[in-house]
This record gives sequence, C-alpha cells and structure tokens, in this order.
Amino acid sequence: MSFVLRPFLHRCLAPEQKEPDAALEAVFGVAEPGRGHNCSGMKPSVILTALAVPVLAGLGGWQPGSAEQPGRFSLVQRTLDREVAVDFTAPAGGIWRVDTTSDLQGWEGWVSFTSAGVTRHLDSAAAYHPQRFYRAIEVASATPLTGDHFATQTGDAVIHPVNHASFVIGWDHRVLYVDPVGGAERYRDLPRADLILLTHEHGDHLHTGTIESVRGPDVAIVASQAAFNGLSPGLKTSAQVLTNGARATLLGLTVEAVPAYNLTTSNHPKGNGNGYVLTLGGKRLYISGDTEDTPELRALRDIDIAFVAMNVPYTMAVAKAASAVREFRPKVVYPYHYRNADGTFADLETFKWQVGTDLGIEVRLRKWY
Ligand code: ZN
Ligand code: ZN
Repeated sequence: MSFVLRPFLHRCLAPEQKEPDAALEAVFGVAEPGRGHNCSGMKPSVILTALAVPVLAGLGGWQPGSAEQPGRFSLVQRTLDREVAVDFTAPAGGIWRVDTTSDLQGWEGWVSFTSAGVTRHLDSAAAYHPQRFYRAIEVASATPLTGDHFATQTGDAVIHPVNHASFVIGWDHRVLYVDPVGGAERYRDLPRADLILLTHEHGDHLHTGTIESVRGPDVAIVASQAAFNGLSPGLKTSAQVLTNGARATLLGLTVEAVPAYNLTTSNHPKGNGNGYVLTLGGKRLYISGDTEDTPELRALRDIDIAFVAMNVPYTMAVAKAASAVREFRPKVVYPYHYRNADGTFADLETFKWQVGTDLGIEVRLRKWY
C-alpha cells in the first residue's frame, strides 16, 4: 500500500507555549487537564474544535493553494468514558488513514476509511492514555483494504469487518479472509484472498460460491474437517485440514487451530469446529469461531487482538463472553457474530461495561451488520 503525503495540519499549541512547535502543529490532540499538552486549553468533555488552519511544516506533498480540498478534523472530543470521538471531514469517496500517538514520538496507523463526507470513529484506546494526537494522510492506492490498523513487525495488519462472522485481514501484502459467505457482491471492492480460514461448516461460515468469488489464483484454504468436506472438488485441492491443536505455517504466518464448541447445547460439538490463533509479524490474533466460554478459551494467553462470538443460543451470552475475556485478557477485543437467532443483537454496550477498564482491555465496537 502506498500513500501520498498530503498532510493537512492543525495549529495545536499548549496555552503556555510561546513558540509554535512543528511537531505539535502537524497534529490535533486532546489531553487531560493539567497533564501534558492540552490542545485547546479547554476542559476535557468539552468539544475541542479543530481550527482547520493548514500550516506548511515540511511534511512534503501538499501545498497551500492547491485546488484540491484537503480533509480536516471537524471534531475531536473526549467522551464521558474517556474515549475520543474523532470526526473527519473530507470530500466523499476519498480514502484516508488516520494515525495516532500518545507521546508524539512514534506514530501508529489507527484507522483507514473511505470518506463519507463526515466520518466518525471512536478511539477506544484513548481511554488508557492521558493524551492522544491524530494526523491524517490521504491514501493513493485505488483499492486498498480499509479498516482498523495494528502495527506488526512487518507492517500494519488491517482489520476489515464484513458481516456477522465474515471479515478480511490485510497484512504484509497478503489478504486473509475469515469465513466468507453472503455472495460475491459483498466482496466486490475488496482484494482477492491469498488465504481463507474456515472455522466450521455452518451456513453463516461456509459458502462455496462465495469462496469461489473471493479466492485469488494461488489461494490457500485452512479448514476444519467438516468444512473441508463441504468444499467443491476444485477448492479441496487448495485446502488443508487442521484439527483442534494442529498448526500450520504458510504465507509467512502461523495458524493454530483451537477448540470451538458448546458446553450447554449440541449446536457445536467438541472437536468439530475450529477457532484460530494467528501469529502475524509478532502479533497474535484469536478468532473464536462458534464457541462458548470453554476452558481452552479461558486458558488462552498473550493474545493481542481477539474476535469473540456472542449470540444466543448458538454461541454464548454477553455475560459469559465478558467473563471469559476478563480471564484470557486480550489487549483488544472485537465482539463479532453477535446477531441472535431471533434477529436481535447482543447488547454490546453491556459487554463493554462488563469487560470494564480495570484490566486494560480495549473493547472495539465496529459495524458488522
Ligand atoms: Zn455454527
Ligand atoms: Zn455461526
């Protein structure tokens, strides 16, 4: 993925600061009162309005007076639970990436997206940082994978929710699909798959026609035995089976199959379905598949990013999911697969509240439906 350096800059000075600081001018941020740099001089929880004053600070590319309209931060605001809501305003259709830092030393990619005019994102990690800064860059690539960014040793992993149990991960020039279903149209604008992970054979996780439409020419498929059995003969030639506890190294990453099963119903018998633990550039991602809060799930350790299913009656209720997450303590957790059998959705705000903030676990609520 390549980027055009077209920064738009916001003047952002601490009240006591006499001279502009080039590093601070290039960003927009919020801070706790009396701690560090306070961008606006106002109390947190008060709207911190971006001044939208472009300043040329040697970051290259963009020139004042350019006919193109740069994007701008139109709102950066601490919420009552100390997260930060970030509104970014740019012409619709442009692709942008927003980076964050808490110390102005090292920037990390946070989120990339296609502008909808005004686009709002919630920085839930900000709750754990007394100050937080943001900068934005317009992305040049025509069809990049957008989503949440996580730094790894070999570039950002990008998380792109699709629907229910289906999502896409971009990492190190590779594209990973998890349980793609729903037909070709849903994936039309996404890059083709280098690796497809299939947790089990249920219809909300496995659809051969969708796999055919998203597969790249050299796709590798990793599947449970029952999911493998559901593949077409052509796809089977690209697939390998991992049973619970087995692992494979392919495309520069490690895939470990972990148990996914029900304790209280027979929807998902033990030994049939897989969850997966992926190791990407030193980061460990856990994908739960359809499971309850099994002892194996609760025993997971050193997970950086977890995707945890919660719906009833097929997987688990919110309270069980929150309790399990508090035990295995991922750094970041995404609820996914949260539509219940009756069409309602799991109460994710309750999940978030039950996980709490005392263990330093970031709950990321994203749009999966
Ligand atoms: Zn299932
Ligand atoms: Zn399912």
